[in-house]
Amino acid sequence: MTYPLPLPENQHTAQPLVDTADKPHEECGIIGLYSPTEEVARMAFFGLFALQHRGQEAAGIAVSDGQSLRMHKDTGLITQIFNPGNLDPLKGHLAIGHTRYSTTGSSSARNAQPFWIETQHGPLAVAHNGNLVNTAELRDVLLRKGVGLSSTSDSEVITMMLAGMPGNNWVERVRQAMQLWQGAYSLVILTRDCVLAVRDPWGFRPLSIGMLKNGGHVVASESGALRTLDCQAIREVKPGEIIRMCSSALKVIQAVPPAPQLALCTFEHIYFSRPDSIWDGRSIHHVRQRLGEQLVREAPTAADVVIPVPDSSIPAAIGYANASGIPYNDGFIKNRYIGRTFIQPTDSLRKQGVALKFNVVEDNVRDKSLIVIDDSIVRGNTSGPLVQMLRQAGAREVHLRITCPPIRHSCYMGVDMGGGEQLIASQSSVEQIRAHIGCDSLHFLSLEGMMQAIGRQNGYCNACFTGVYPIPVDPAITKTGFEKT
Ligand code: SF4
Repeated sequence: MTYPLPLPENQHTAQPLVDTADKPHEECGIIGLYSPTEEVARMAFFGLFALQHRGQEAAGIAVSDGQSLRMHKDTGLITQIFNPGNLDPLKGHLAIGHTRYSTTGSSSARNAQPFWIETQHGPLAVAHNGNLVNTAELRDVLLRKGVGLSSTSDSEVITMMLAGMPGNNWVERVRQAMQLWQGAYSLVILTRDCVLAVRDPWGFRPLSIGMLKNGGHVVASESGALRTLDCQAIREVKPGEIIRMCSSALKVIQAVPPAPQLALCTFEHIYFSRPDSIWDGRSIHHVRQRLGEQLVREAPTAADVVIPVPDSSIPAAIGYANASGIPYNDGFIKNRYIGRTFIQPTDSLRKQGVALKFNVVEDNVRDKSLIVIDDSIVRGNTSGPLVQMLRQAGAREVHLRITCPPIRHSCYMGVDMGGGEQLIASQSSVEQIRAHIGCDSLHFLSLEGMMQAIGRQNGYCNACFTGVYPIPVDPAITKTGFEKT
Protein backbone atom coordinates (compact mmCIF):
# COMPACT_ATOMS: atom_id res chain seq x y z
CA MET A 1 0.00 0.00 0.00
CA THR A 2 1.19 3.54 -0.70
CA TYR A 3 1.63 6.05 2.10
CA PRO A 4 0.98 8.67 3.35
CA LEU A 5 -1.93 8.95 0.90
CA PRO A 6 -5.34 8.59 2.58
CA LEU A 7 -6.50 5.00 2.52
CA PRO A 8 -9.84 3.98 1.05
CA GLU A 9 -12.56 2.87 3.39
CA ASN A 10 -12.84 -0.87 3.35
CA GLN A 11 -15.26 -3.44 4.56
CA HIS A 12 -13.27 -4.26 7.69
CA THR A 13 -14.99 -1.29 9.31
CA ALA A 14 -18.19 -3.31 9.50
CA GLN A 15 -20.60 -3.25 12.44
CA PRO A 16 -19.28 -5.33 15.35
CA LEU A 17 -20.67 -8.82 15.58
CA VAL A 18 -21.64 -8.55 19.23
CA ASP A 19 -22.57 -5.35 21.06
CA THR A 20 -19.58 -4.52 23.23
CA ALA A 21 -20.74 -1.03 24.18
CA ASP A 22 -21.26 -2.08 27.79
CA LYS A 23 -17.52 -2.04 28.41
CA PRO A 24 -15.14 0.89 28.20
CA HIS A 25 -13.13 0.47 25.03
CA GLU A 26 -9.40 0.02 25.33
CA GLU A 27 -7.29 2.83 24.04
CA CYS A 28 -4.54 1.45 21.82
CA GLY A 29 -1.42 -0.68 22.05
CA ILE A 30 2.02 0.52 20.93
CA ILE A 31 5.42 -1.10 20.58
CA GLY A 32 8.92 0.12 19.64
CA LEU A 33 12.01 -2.01 19.03
CA TYR A 34 15.73 -1.83 18.45
CA SER A 35 17.47 -5.16 17.83
CA PRO A 36 21.02 -5.44 16.47
CA THR A 37 20.63 -9.01 15.21
CA GLU A 38 17.01 -9.98 14.59
CA GLU A 39 14.23 -9.12 12.14
CA VAL A 40 12.35 -6.48 14.11
CA ALA A 41 9.23 -6.62 11.91
CA ARG A 42 8.44 -10.18 13.05
CA MET A 43 9.17 -9.23 16.66
CA ALA A 44 6.85 -6.23 16.29
CA PHE A 45 4.16 -8.56 14.91
CA PHE A 46 4.31 -10.89 17.93
CA GLY A 47 4.53 -7.93 20.32
CA LEU A 48 1.41 -6.39 18.77
CA PHE A 49 -0.30 -9.77 18.89
CA ALA A 50 0.22 -9.72 22.68
CA LEU A 51 -1.44 -6.28 22.74
CA GLN A 52 -4.39 -7.17 20.48
CA HIS A 53 -6.85 -6.75 23.39
CA ARG A 54 -6.05 -3.00 23.44
CA GLY A 55 -7.42 -2.37 19.94
CA GLN A 56 -8.99 -4.48 17.23
CA GLU A 57 -9.84 -2.00 14.48
CA ALA A 58 -6.53 -1.40 12.70
CA ALA A 59 -2.81 -2.02 13.06
CA GLY A 60 0.48 -1.13 11.43
CA ILE A 61 4.24 -1.61 11.60
CA ALA A 62 6.90 0.82 10.34
CA VAL A 63 10.55 -0.27 10.07
CA SER A 64 13.86 1.51 9.38
CA ASP A 65 17.14 -0.03 8.23
CA GLY A 66 19.05 3.20 8.97
CA GLN A 67 18.54 4.43 5.39
CA SER A 68 14.84 4.40 4.66
CA LEU A 69 11.48 3.62 6.27
CA ARG A 70 8.95 1.03 5.11
CA MET A 71 5.48 0.49 6.48
CA HIS A 72 2.41 -1.68 6.21
CA LYS A 73 -0.90 -0.87 7.91
CA ASP A 74 -4.57 -1.63 7.38
CA THR A 75 -7.85 -2.12 9.19
CA GLY A 76 -8.64 -5.43 10.87
CA LEU A 77 -6.97 -7.73 13.37
CA ILE A 78 -3.20 -8.31 13.48
CA THR A 79 -3.50 -11.78 11.91
CA GLN A 80 -5.77 -10.45 9.14
CA ILE A 81 -3.44 -7.58 8.27
CA PHE A 82 0.00 -9.22 8.29
CA ASN A 83 1.36 -12.21 6.41
CA PRO A 84 4.87 -13.24 5.30
CA GLY A 85 4.30 -11.45 1.99
CA ASN A 86 3.94 -8.02 3.58
CA LEU A 87 6.16 -8.57 6.65
CA ASP A 88 9.28 -9.85 4.86
CA PRO A 89 9.88 -6.63 2.88
CA LEU A 90 9.90 -4.67 6.19
CA LYS A 91 13.66 -5.05 6.65
CA GLY A 92 15.51 -3.18 9.37
CA HIS A 93 16.75 -3.08 12.96
CA LEU A 94 14.37 -0.34 14.21
CA ALA A 95 10.56 -0.58 14.29
CA ILE A 96 7.40 0.83 15.79
CA GLY A 97 3.93 -0.73 15.75
CA HIS A 98 0.39 0.18 16.70
CA THR A 99 -2.90 -1.61 17.23
CA ARG A 100 -5.84 0.73 17.25
CA TYR A 101 -9.17 1.29 18.83
CA SER A 102 -10.44 4.71 17.75
CA THR A 103 -10.63 7.19 20.62
CA THR A 104 -10.43 10.30 18.42
CA GLY A 105 -11.57 10.01 14.84
CA SER A 106 -13.68 7.22 13.40
CA SER A 107 -12.47 3.70 12.80
CA SER A 108 -11.80 4.37 9.10
CA ALA A 109 -8.63 3.19 7.40
CA ARG A 110 -7.22 6.71 7.03
CA ASN A 111 -6.89 6.90 10.83
CA ALA A 112 -4.79 3.70 11.03
CA GLN A 113 -1.34 4.16 12.57
CA PRO A 114 1.63 4.64 12.50
CA PHE A 115 1.41 8.02 10.76
CA TRP A 116 4.35 8.50 8.43
CA ILE A 117 5.50 11.74 6.82
CA GLU A 118 8.61 13.09 5.11
CA THR A 119 10.02 16.13 6.92
CA GLN A 120 12.92 18.49 6.26
CA HIS A 121 14.82 16.43 8.87
CA GLY A 122 14.07 13.06 7.24
CA PRO A 123 11.25 10.52 7.54
CA LEU A 124 9.16 10.38 10.70
CA ALA A 125 6.61 7.77 11.83
CA VAL A 126 4.53 8.08 15.00
CA ALA A 127 2.26 5.71 16.96
CA HIS A 128 0.16 7.10 19.81
CA ASN A 129 -1.80 5.72 22.75
CA GLY A 130 -3.99 8.25 24.55
CA ASN A 131 -5.89 11.39 23.74
CA LEU A 132 -4.85 15.04 23.77
CA VAL A 133 -7.48 17.28 25.36
CA ASN A 134 -6.31 20.43 23.51
CA THR A 135 -6.38 18.93 20.00
CA ALA A 136 -8.89 21.52 18.74
CA GLU A 137 -6.55 24.46 19.42
CA LEU A 138 -3.46 22.61 18.14
CA ARG A 139 -5.34 21.61 14.98
CA ASP A 140 -6.43 25.20 14.35
CA VAL A 141 -2.85 26.43 14.67
CA LEU A 142 -1.67 23.84 12.13
CA LEU A 143 -4.49 24.58 9.67
CA ARG A 144 -3.84 28.34 9.94
CA LYS A 145 -0.19 27.67 9.08
CA GLY A 146 -1.37 25.89 5.93
CA VAL A 147 -0.49 22.40 7.15
CA GLY A 148 -2.76 19.83 5.45
CA LEU A 149 -4.28 17.06 7.58
CA SER A 150 -5.36 13.82 5.97
CA SER A 151 -7.13 12.26 8.95
CA THR A 152 -9.35 13.15 11.89
CA SER A 153 -6.98 11.78 14.51
CA ASP A 154 -5.16 13.75 17.22
CA SER A 155 -2.20 11.45 16.55
CA GLU A 156 -1.75 13.06 13.13
CA VAL A 157 -1.75 16.47 14.83
CA ILE A 158 1.10 15.19 17.03
CA THR A 159 3.01 13.99 13.97
CA MET A 160 2.59 17.23 12.01
CA MET A 161 3.54 19.34 15.03
CA LEU A 162 6.75 17.36 15.46
CA ALA A 163 7.66 17.94 11.82
CA GLY A 164 7.52 21.71 12.29
CA MET A 165 9.13 22.00 15.74
CA PRO A 166 12.40 23.90 16.15
CA GLY A 167 15.43 22.02 17.51
CA ASN A 168 18.71 20.46 16.45
CA ASN A 169 17.58 16.87 16.83
CA TRP A 170 14.42 14.82 17.33
CA VAL A 171 14.76 14.64 21.12
CA GLU A 172 14.88 18.44 21.23
CA ARG A 173 11.85 18.74 18.92
CA VAL A 174 9.82 16.25 20.98
CA ARG A 175 10.75 18.09 24.17
CA GLN A 176 9.48 21.38 22.66
CA ALA A 177 6.22 19.76 21.56
CA MET A 178 5.67 18.22 25.00
CA GLN A 179 5.37 21.75 26.40
CA LEU A 180 2.30 22.24 24.15
CA TRP A 181 0.53 18.90 24.44
CA GLN A 182 -2.12 18.60 27.14
CA GLY A 183 -3.53 15.18 27.91
CA ALA A 184 -2.67 11.54 27.56
CA TYR A 185 0.13 10.44 25.28
CA SER A 186 2.37 7.43 25.33
CA LEU A 187 4.26 7.55 22.03
CA VAL A 188 6.72 5.56 19.98
CA ILE A 189 8.47 7.57 17.28
CA LEU A 190 10.58 6.15 14.45
CA THR A 191 13.16 8.24 12.61
CA ARG A 192 15.73 7.05 10.11
CA ASP A 193 18.23 6.13 12.86
CA CYS A 194 16.41 5.76 16.19
CA VAL A 195 13.23 4.91 18.11
CA LEU A 196 12.01 7.34 20.77
CA ALA A 197 9.63 6.33 23.58
CA VAL A 198 7.71 9.19 25.20
CA ARG A 199 5.27 9.33 28.15
CA ASP A 200 3.18 12.34 29.16
CA PRO A 201 3.97 14.08 32.47
CA TRP A 202 0.72 12.90 34.10
CA GLY A 203 1.48 9.27 33.30
CA PHE A 204 -2.08 8.56 32.09
CA ARG A 205 -1.29 5.61 29.84
CA PRO A 206 1.21 2.83 30.53
CA LEU A 207 4.54 2.30 28.76
CA SER A 208 7.27 -0.13 29.80
CA ILE A 209 10.76 -0.87 28.51
CA GLY A 210 12.82 -4.05 28.64
CA MET A 211 16.13 -5.39 27.38
CA LEU A 212 16.59 -8.18 24.84
CA LYS A 213 19.30 -10.79 25.38
CA ASN A 214 21.16 -9.53 22.30
CA GLY A 215 21.52 -6.03 23.75
CA GLY A 216 18.48 -4.60 21.97
CA HIS A 217 15.50 -2.95 23.68
CA VAL A 218 11.71 -3.02 23.38
CA VAL A 219 9.10 -0.57 24.66
CA ALA A 220 5.46 -1.59 24.81
CA SER A 221 2.15 -0.49 26.32
CA GLU A 222 2.19 -3.46 28.66
CA SER A 223 4.93 -5.46 30.31
CA GLY A 224 3.06 -8.64 29.30
CA ALA A 225 4.07 -7.97 25.66
CA LEU A 226 7.71 -7.51 26.75
CA ARG A 227 7.61 -10.91 28.49
CA THR A 228 6.28 -12.44 25.26
CA LEU A 229 9.46 -11.19 23.54
CA ASP A 230 11.63 -12.57 26.40
CA CYS A 231 12.73 -9.15 27.65
CA GLN A 232 14.65 -8.78 30.91
CA ALA A 233 15.14 -5.87 33.33
CA ILE A 234 11.70 -4.43 32.63
CA ARG A 235 10.83 -1.01 34.02
CA GLU A 236 8.15 1.58 33.32
CA VAL A 237 8.96 4.67 31.26
CA LYS A 238 8.55 7.47 33.81
CA PRO A 239 6.09 10.34 33.33
CA GLY A 240 7.75 13.14 31.31
CA GLU A 241 10.57 10.91 30.02
CA ILE A 242 11.94 10.45 26.51
CA ILE A 243 13.99 7.30 25.96
CA ARG A 244 16.16 7.11 22.83
CA MET A 245 16.92 3.63 21.46
CA CYS A 246 19.47 3.20 18.67
CA SER A 247 22.27 1.14 20.22
CA SER A 248 22.76 -1.07 23.27
CA ALA A 249 23.22 2.09 25.36
CA LEU A 250 19.86 3.73 26.08
CA LYS A 251 19.64 7.48 26.40
CA VAL A 252 17.11 8.48 29.09
CA ILE A 253 16.03 12.13 29.21
CA GLN A 254 13.63 13.69 31.74
CA ALA A 255 12.24 16.00 29.06
CA VAL A 256 9.60 17.72 31.21
CA PRO A 257 9.07 17.40 34.96
CA PRO A 258 6.41 14.93 36.10
CA ALA A 259 3.10 16.64 36.94
CA PRO A 260 2.83 17.58 40.64
CA GLN A 261 -0.22 15.30 40.80
CA LEU A 262 0.18 12.15 38.66
CA ALA A 263 -2.97 10.76 37.00
CA LEU A 264 -2.47 7.10 36.11
CA CYS A 265 -5.60 5.53 34.62
CA THR A 266 -7.33 3.38 37.25
CA PHE A 267 -9.06 1.42 34.50
CA GLU A 268 -5.80 -0.30 33.55
CA HIS A 269 -6.15 -2.14 36.88
CA ILE A 270 -9.90 -2.69 36.61
CA TYR A 271 -10.28 -3.89 33.04
CA PHE A 272 -7.83 -2.93 30.28
CA SER A 273 -4.46 -4.51 31.04
CA ARG A 274 -3.62 -8.18 30.76
CA PRO A 275 -3.55 -9.83 34.21
CA ASP A 276 0.12 -10.77 33.68
CA SER A 277 1.13 -7.11 33.21
CA ILE A 278 2.59 -4.78 35.82
CA TRP A 279 1.12 -1.29 36.15
CA ASP A 280 2.53 1.28 38.57
CA GLY A 281 4.76 -1.46 39.99
CA ARG A 282 1.74 -3.63 40.85
CA SER A 283 0.66 -6.98 39.45
CA ILE A 284 -2.67 -6.49 37.68
CA HIS A 285 -3.73 -10.00 38.67
CA HIS A 286 -3.04 -9.36 42.36
CA VAL A 287 -4.77 -5.97 42.36
CA ARG A 288 -7.87 -7.62 40.83
CA GLN A 289 -7.79 -10.35 43.49
CA ARG A 290 -7.69 -7.65 46.18
CA LEU A 291 -10.65 -5.87 44.53
CA GLY A 292 -12.62 -9.10 45.01
CA GLU A 293 -11.49 -9.40 48.64
CA GLN A 294 -12.56 -5.81 49.26
CA LEU A 295 -16.04 -6.56 47.88
CA VAL A 296 -16.45 -9.22 50.57
CA ARG A 297 -15.55 -6.67 53.27
CA GLU A 298 -17.99 -4.09 51.86
CA ALA A 299 -20.93 -6.36 51.00
CA PRO A 300 -20.72 -9.78 52.67
CA THR A 301 -23.44 -12.04 51.25
CA ALA A 302 -24.35 -15.68 51.89
CA ALA A 303 -24.33 -17.71 48.65
CA ASP A 304 -23.49 -21.16 47.23
CA VAL A 305 -20.96 -20.24 44.57
CA VAL A 306 -18.90 -17.32 43.19
CA ILE A 307 -18.74 -16.98 39.41
CA PRO A 308 -16.88 -14.42 37.25
CA VAL A 309 -18.00 -12.77 34.04
CA PRO A 310 -14.94 -13.85 32.03
CA ASP A 311 -12.20 -12.90 31.37
CA SER A 312 -11.20 -9.75 33.25
CA SER A 313 -13.25 -10.58 36.37
CA ILE A 314 -11.68 -14.00 36.99
CA PRO A 315 -8.95 -12.82 39.43
CA ALA A 316 -11.49 -10.73 41.40
CA ALA A 317 -13.84 -13.73 41.67
CA ILE A 318 -10.93 -15.84 42.96
CA GLY A 319 -10.20 -13.11 45.53
CA TYR A 320 -13.87 -12.96 46.55
CA ALA A 321 -14.05 -16.76 46.93
CA ASN A 322 -10.82 -16.89 48.99
CA ALA A 323 -11.93 -14.10 51.33
CA SER A 324 -15.52 -15.33 51.76
CA GLY A 325 -14.96 -19.08 51.87
CA ILE A 326 -17.66 -19.51 49.18
CA PRO A 327 -16.51 -21.90 46.46
CA TYR A 328 -15.44 -20.49 43.06
CA ASN A 329 -16.69 -22.07 39.83
CA ASP A 330 -17.24 -21.27 36.16
CA GLY A 331 -20.74 -20.04 35.43
CA PHE A 332 -20.12 -18.63 31.97
CA ILE A 333 -17.95 -19.91 29.15
CA LYS A 334 -16.90 -17.11 26.81
CA ASN A 335 -16.30 -17.62 23.14
CA ARG A 336 -12.94 -15.83 22.99
CA TYR A 337 -12.92 -15.76 19.20
CA ILE A 338 -16.31 -14.12 18.63
CA GLY A 339 -14.75 -10.70 18.09
CA ARG A 340 -12.36 -12.11 15.54
CA THR A 341 -14.70 -12.44 12.62
CA PHE A 342 -16.16 -9.86 10.31
CA ILE A 343 -18.84 -12.24 9.06
CA GLN A 344 -22.14 -10.66 10.03
CA PRO A 345 -24.69 -12.91 11.81
CA THR A 346 -28.20 -13.49 10.53
CA ASP A 347 -30.94 -11.39 12.15
CA SER A 348 -32.03 -14.24 14.40
CA LEU A 349 -28.45 -14.85 15.55
CA ARG A 350 -27.95 -11.12 16.22
CA LYS A 351 -31.07 -11.12 18.42
CA GLN A 352 -29.28 -13.61 20.66
CA GLY A 353 -26.98 -10.71 21.64
CA VAL A 354 -24.66 -11.66 24.49
CA ALA A 355 -25.77 -15.30 24.19
CA LEU A 356 -23.62 -15.42 21.07
CA LYS A 357 -20.64 -14.59 23.25
CA PHE A 358 -21.39 -16.44 26.51
CA ASN A 359 -22.82 -19.87 27.33
CA VAL A 360 -23.99 -20.80 30.85
CA VAL A 361 -22.62 -23.93 32.54
CA GLU A 362 -26.05 -25.00 33.71
CA ASP A 363 -24.99 -27.68 36.21
CA ASN A 364 -22.89 -25.09 38.08
CA VAL A 365 -25.71 -22.60 38.59
CA ARG A 366 -28.97 -24.60 38.78
CA ASP A 367 -30.80 -24.22 42.14
CA LYS A 368 -27.89 -22.16 43.47
CA SER A 369 -27.56 -18.73 44.99
CA LEU A 370 -24.82 -16.97 42.99
CA ILE A 371 -22.33 -14.16 43.59
CA VAL A 372 -21.54 -12.85 40.10
CA ILE A 373 -18.40 -10.70 39.80
CA ASP A 374 -18.05 -8.21 36.94
CA ASP A 375 -15.51 -5.43 36.43
CA SER A 376 -17.77 -2.55 35.42
CA ILE A 377 -21.18 -1.45 34.16
CA VAL A 378 -21.14 1.26 31.48
CA ARG A 379 -24.48 1.38 29.63
CA GLY A 380 -26.14 -1.47 31.49
CA ASN A 381 -27.20 -3.43 28.42
CA THR A 382 -25.10 -6.57 28.96
CA SER A 383 -25.61 -7.34 32.64
CA GLY A 384 -29.39 -7.77 32.29
CA PRO A 385 -29.20 -10.47 29.57
CA LEU A 386 -26.46 -12.26 31.54
CA VAL A 387 -28.62 -12.33 34.69
CA GLN A 388 -31.55 -13.55 32.59
CA MET A 389 -29.43 -16.38 31.16
CA LEU A 390 -28.50 -17.47 34.70
CA ARG A 391 -32.15 -17.44 35.80
CA GLN A 392 -33.19 -19.44 32.72
CA ALA A 393 -30.54 -21.99 33.70
CA GLY A 394 -32.22 -22.34 37.10
CA ALA A 395 -30.22 -19.97 39.36
CA ARG A 396 -32.15 -19.29 42.58
CA GLU A 397 -30.57 -15.91 43.45
CA VAL A 398 -28.17 -13.64 41.54
CA HIS A 399 -26.12 -11.10 43.53
CA LEU A 400 -24.06 -8.89 41.22
CA ARG A 401 -20.82 -7.38 42.56
CA ILE A 402 -18.84 -4.80 40.56
CA THR A 403 -15.12 -4.18 41.17
CA CYS A 404 -15.27 -0.39 40.68
CA PRO A 405 -17.63 2.48 41.60
CA PRO A 406 -20.47 3.56 39.26
CA ILE A 407 -19.14 5.23 36.06
CA ARG A 408 -20.94 8.58 35.88
CA HIS A 409 -18.64 10.74 33.72
CA SER A 410 -17.02 10.55 30.27
CA CYS A 411 -13.31 10.04 29.76
CA TYR A 412 -11.44 12.58 27.59
CA MET A 413 -8.01 11.01 28.04
CA GLY A 414 -8.25 8.13 25.60
CA VAL A 415 -10.93 5.74 26.82
CA ASP A 416 -14.22 5.50 24.96
CA MET A 417 -17.09 4.87 27.36
CA GLY A 418 -19.69 7.06 25.69
CA GLY A 419 -21.29 10.37 26.64
CA GLY A 420 -22.89 11.27 29.96
CA GLU A 421 -26.46 10.30 29.03
CA GLN A 422 -25.28 6.90 27.72
CA LEU A 423 -23.77 6.01 31.11
CA ILE A 424 -26.52 4.30 33.08
CA ALA A 425 -25.09 5.41 36.44
CA SER A 426 -25.23 9.07 35.41
CA GLN A 427 -29.02 8.80 35.06
CA SER A 428 -29.99 6.15 37.62
CA SER A 429 -29.50 5.26 41.28
CA VAL A 430 -27.92 1.93 42.24
CA GLU A 431 -31.40 0.59 43.11
CA GLN A 432 -32.75 1.69 39.71
CA ILE A 433 -29.81 -0.04 37.98
CA ARG A 434 -30.47 -3.20 40.02
CA ALA A 435 -34.11 -3.17 38.97
CA HIS A 436 -33.14 -2.58 35.33
CA ILE A 437 -30.70 -5.50 35.38
CA GLY A 438 -33.06 -7.76 37.30
CA CYS A 439 -30.59 -9.11 39.88
CA ASP A 440 -31.45 -9.75 43.54
CA SER A 441 -28.80 -7.37 44.87
CA LEU A 442 -26.15 -5.09 43.38
CA HIS A 443 -23.06 -3.56 44.96
CA PHE A 444 -20.43 -1.32 43.38
CA LEU A 445 -17.04 -1.19 45.13
CA SER A 446 -16.50 2.16 46.86
CA LEU A 447 -13.82 4.57 45.60
CA GLU A 448 -11.95 4.20 48.91
CA GLY A 449 -12.19 0.41 48.75
CA MET A 450 -10.93 0.36 45.16
CA MET A 451 -7.93 2.57 45.97
CA GLN A 452 -7.21 0.48 49.06
CA ALA A 453 -7.07 -2.63 46.87
CA ILE A 454 -4.76 -0.82 44.43
CA GLY A 455 -2.60 0.22 47.36
CA ARG A 456 -2.51 3.98 46.82
CA GLN A 457 -4.79 6.84 47.77
CA ASN A 458 -3.50 9.32 45.16
CA GLY A 459 -1.54 9.54 41.92
CA TYR A 460 -4.42 8.04 39.92
CA CYS A 461 -7.10 9.50 37.64
CA ASN A 462 -10.60 8.63 38.88
CA ALA A 463 -12.46 11.21 36.81
CA CYS A 464 -14.96 8.77 35.28
CA PHE A 465 -16.15 7.97 38.81
CA THR A 466 -15.83 11.38 40.46
CA GLY A 467 -16.09 13.97 37.65
CA VAL A 468 -12.90 15.59 39.02
CA TYR A 469 -10.57 15.78 36.01
CA PRO A 470 -6.81 16.03 36.58
CA ILE A 471 -6.53 18.53 33.69
CA PRO A 472 -9.07 20.97 32.23
CA VAL A 473 -11.26 19.22 29.61
CA ASP A 474 -13.83 20.44 27.10
CA PRO A 475 -17.09 18.47 27.55
CA ALA A 476 -18.07 19.43 23.95
CA ILE A 477 -15.37 17.13 22.52
CA THR A 478 -16.62 13.86 21.09
CA LYS A 479 -14.75 11.01 19.50
CA THR A 480 -15.70 12.00 15.96
CA GLY A 481 -16.01 15.74 16.58
CA PHE A 482 -13.41 16.77 13.98
CA GLU A 483 -15.13 14.88 11.19
CA LYS A 484 -17.96 17.39 11.19
CA THR A 485 -15.62 20.32 10.53
FE1 SF4 B 1 -8.94 6.18 33.10
FE2 SF4 B 1 -11.42 6.94 33.88
FE3 SF4 B 1 -9.37 8.66 34.07
FE4 SF4 B 1 -10.30 7.97 31.68
S1 SF4 B 1 -11.41 9.13 33.27
S2 SF4 B 1 -8.14 8.12 32.28
S3 SF4 B 1 -10.87 5.82 32.02
S4 SF4 B 1 -9.63 6.68 35.18
